[in-house]
Amino acid sequence: MTPGLSIKRLILLAIIAFLLPAALPVAAGAEPARVTRLQLGLNAGLTRLVVEASEPVSAELSAQANGLGLVLLLPGLRWAAPPAQPNAAGLVAGLGLPVRHDERTEIAIDLIEPAVVERAFRLEPQNGPLGASGHRLVIDLRPADPQAYAEAFAASVILPLPNAVDIAPPPAHAADRRHTIVLDPGHGGQDPGAISASGRHEKDITLAVALAMAQRLQATGRYRVILTRDRDRFVRLNDRVALARKHEADLFLSIHADSLRGDRATSGATVYTRADTATDLEAEALALRENRADQLADSAAERDVDDVVSILLDLASRDTARLSGRFAGLLTASMSDTIALRRNALRAANFRVLSAPDVPSALLELGYLSNPGDEALLFSESGRNRLAAAAVAAIDRFFGIETR
Ligand code: ZN
Repeated sequence: MTPGLSIKRLILLAIIAFLLPAALPVAAGAEPARVTRLQLGLNAGLTRLVVEASEPVSAELSAQANGLGLVLLLPGLRWAAPPAQPNAAGLVAGLGLPVRHDERTEIAIDLIEPAVVERAFRLEPQNGPLGASGHRLVIDLRPADPQAYAEAFAASVILPLPNAVDIAPPPAHAADRRHTIVLDPGHGGQDPGAISASGRHEKDITLAVALAMAQRLQATGRYRVILTRDRDRFVRLNDRVALARKHEADLFLSIHADSLRGDRATSGATVYTRADTATDLEAEALALRENRADQLADSAAERDVDDVVSILLDLASRDTARLSGRFAGLLTASMSDTIALRRNALRAANFRVLSAPDVPSALLELGYLSNPGDEALLFSESGRNRLAAAAVAAIDRFFGIETR
């Protein structure tokens, strides 16, 4: 046996050993409380760790004995979760494998720089399109100087913090069980968007497609549909986002069409979600183009700054990014039955119009106005109807409604 193989085998054994206890049957009637999920991510400049479990989560956070880092102790909880993905983000250099004891679990959190707990609170379980969530403990870390770090963890910190208020899920809207969909036809007014080879405007095709979608969605009786514009007028990106948040939209779909100067060959639809880092250069360039819309407005776009505080909690209470990704996948699949998709049709970039933290959002680029085939499809009524039908099918699937 080569050394390489034996190492591989050791890793395999370690993985099996790691997975095995979770797979063992539990004695009837004595279901132990367990950790079901661990998430790590960024939230408005803070590093956020979310522990999800079958029971309300309490934790202790203490400094690692050696090196820069913390140890998260979860008393009374058994580990039944996959490792966190990603296991490095923000201030966290990496998460250790959970150390299992009979009645508690420990996880090492390696830090890039000293950090302290900015806030820690619990979220009660709630139902969503992905099913019911568990009990969650949200821990937000912020950078600190070495002294503040040493003082903060001189003794272990009990979480949630004493002044934290547990957050209950919002009450269901009993009166109106319809899902609220905000459709966002890109551009408008003095902002024409992309312009086709024959001089036609993106703003006109996005509006026509959005109106076709709205009509179909409304006809089902299952949706409340709101348009960010229903005629040729200019709407700032921030106001589009604000409208979706104000109406507590369950889904936000921004509709666009692209154009590549001097390129008649590139064609097909692309579905985008929001990410700080673009999946590719083309997506990054597109986001820059689409984000420019507000520069046509008279005033600078700084109005959304004070929104940041009020949205912090929402970020944790809804798995917005996960839901956005799920919808984008469904939309791509549904579109592929109708029109040609670009290669790697599922992409991400930093689109301002997708920045509502509590509304699952996606941006659909219908195709390329610089491509004669796409232009003909988009400017035909039958083409628009097919696109609208595909979008409605994806929206139905997103909300768990099977129409076929
Ligand atoms: Zn556009």
